[in-house]
Amino acid sequence: MRISVKAPAKINLTLDVLAKRPDGYHEVEMVMTTVDLADRVDLTLRQDGAITLDCSASFVPDDIRNHAYKAAVLLRERYQIRQGVHVHIDKQIPVAAGLAGGSSDAAAALRGLNKLWNLGLSLDELAAIGAEIGSDVPFCVYGGTALARGRGEQITHLPAPAPCWVILAKPPIGVSTADVYGRLRVQEIACHPSTEQMIRSIREQDFSLMCRSMGNVLEEVTLDMHPQVRQIKELMEQSGADGVLMSGSGPTVFALVQKEAKVHRIYNALRGFVKDVFVARMLGMPDGEMLA
Ligand code: ATP
Repeated sequence: MRISVKAPAKINLTLDVLAKRPDGYHEVEMVMTTVDLADRVDLTLRQDGAITLDCSASFVPDDIRNHAYKAAVLLRERYQIRQGVHVHIDKQIPVAAGLAGGSSDAAAALRGLNKLWNLGLSLDELAAIGAEIGSDVPFCVYGGTALARGRGEQITHLPAPAPCWVILAKPPIGVSTADVYGRLRVQEIACHPSTEQMIRSIREQDFSLMCRSMGNVLEEVTLDMHPQVRQIKELMEQSGADGVLMSGSGPTVFALVQKEAKVHRIYNALRGFVKDVFVARMLGMPDGEMLA
């Protein structure tokens, strides 16, 4: 028996850091939404009880360091499952890019294994298990659009924003999330995004207000470290994007546009500059699609 699950990338419409917590994590407030740039996670039942994994991108770990593998191990141990699974990841989301690819693979594995192993768990239960793997996994379990608080694991669902195109560009550099957070001086953040205004723009389907409300306090940190990321941002702005922001800790920068003609203009401008450029639609609502 085999199940295929879509694992969509997420973008941050806002990312605010409120404080550094005594446990070392940061207290965040993020509005996130899924886009239709997605990995595919295939789960094939194994009767011998083993958990194995392979990934189309050879540099992604294929053992317990892989978030999807960890998800399978956690579920199997917690519910004393005798069966195993082979996980195959068809990687489309760029890795270490600020798009939560690994977290989304873990979330897809949790949703798929819930079916494959007949666990009958709710999405809330899967999200709670996901929080043990990573802060972005609970959001990825639900998909759609949400406000994430705490470490990122406290989810409040939001309606779908006004539909639009999303053009994503990832320069060929690796950014460590821990490094970016480590360099952030929370007391010195000059400009916090208005999470409240972003939520209002989404509820009112006000695309223009949504673009004006975009903000990410990690952006300046990554932009200072990597001038190439700043150049991509400026190129998108000069090419007529309605809204431009770095996602997560970067280095991916995305542009939001409503008019299809602008998509081509921005895509072409970027392609001369960076190899990894993707055009996607905002999903807005969870599609939770099981492919087979
Ligand atoms: P986030 O936005 O949640 O910080 P990210 O998009 O920046 O995530 P990922 O693509 O999830 O980053 O990769 C971060 C690291 O996680 C990689 O260096 C990789 O080695 C590891 N990793 C573990 N599992 C996976 C997976 N299934 N896919 C990609 N990377 C994975």
